Amino acid sequence: MTIRSMRRFDDEPIIPMDLGNIRSLGVRSLDVQCHKCHHEIVLNVDRWPDHVTVPSFGPRLVCTRCGATGADVRPNWREYKPKRMP
Ligand SMILES: [Zn+2]
Repeated sequence: MTIRSMRRFDDEPIIPMDLGNIRSLGVRSLDVQCHKCHHEIVLNVDRWPDHVTVPSFGPRLVCTRCGATGADVRPNWREYKPKRMP
């Protein structure tokens, strides 16, 4: 039996949001918090393409305060604009 055949439907990985998803909700930046010193910034992501996923930023970010690599990254929901009903 291979590993693949043992997979069950509820083992499907959660698909991470990408920048195209959050832009469609009006969000154009990410909330970033350093793992180490909890320094928080808002990162504008206009210069990255739609297919880049939100979690892919985390390991690449370097804190400007303490120099640690790696951060918690989430969409900046303060910019969220619910779609208007027609
Ligand atoms: Zn830091």
